[in-house]
Amino acid sequence: MHNSLQYSHQLIKTRVQPGDLVVDATAGNGHDTLLLAQLVGPKGKVYSYDIQACALKETRHRLQKAGLLERVKLIHRGHETMDQDLAPGQSIKAVMFNLGYLPGGNHSIITKPDTTIQALKIALKHLLPRGLITIVAYHGHPGGKNELSALVKYLSTLDQYNFDVLQYQFINQVNQPPILFAIEKKAKSKL
Ligand code: SAM
Repeated sequence: MHNSLQYSHQLIKTRVQPGDLVVDATAGNGHDTLLLAQLVGPKGKVYSYDIQACALKETRHRLQKAGLLERVKLIHRGHETMDQDLAPGQSIKAVMFNLGYLPGGNHSIITKPDTTIQALKIALKHLLPRGLITIVAYHGHPGGKNELSALVKYLSTLDQYNFDVLQYQFINQVNQPPILFAIEKKAKSKL
């Protein structure tokens, strides 16, 4: 069976197509941005956010090595400012969130519940019908549990006529493995 990270990639691969506009809300070391850049093709675009310059440097390096840098706009700002880059009515096909701290970086710089939910609200507004948001939530670090519970509380309020919300989790593993949430805007949604 796929772990949460692998399953988020599987879901994204079924949905993102050449020419799409998509978002990596947490660039980190650039693994998700690279996947998205591969999927959108030469005519698509990825907006990739991080608050840490070192994360964007690593992401840039990874993209350069793959020859895919021109498909990506690297944005050194929080994902909660996404609205600044999207025109009203501009639609996105997919958004990936990978919460917590930068692996190999400063473990005290983490995603926070308020800004994560603020970004999610913007993403949901711009998401196309049949568009997909994936969120990999880590909860073993200080602050992780708070973020997870705020996330579950918020996602549970999403109207079932407009959104399907999936929680994917191994319930028999030790060491608090990450939990995947996937949100699909329904094909008939008018939002
Ligand atoms: N997706 C990444 C990858 O493929 O390597 C891993 C992301 S890492 C778990 C989380 C990242 O979120 C960190 O690099 C951190 O700097 C970033 N971050 C924290 N708060 C943020 C915010 N408000 N907006 C955007 N990124 C943020």
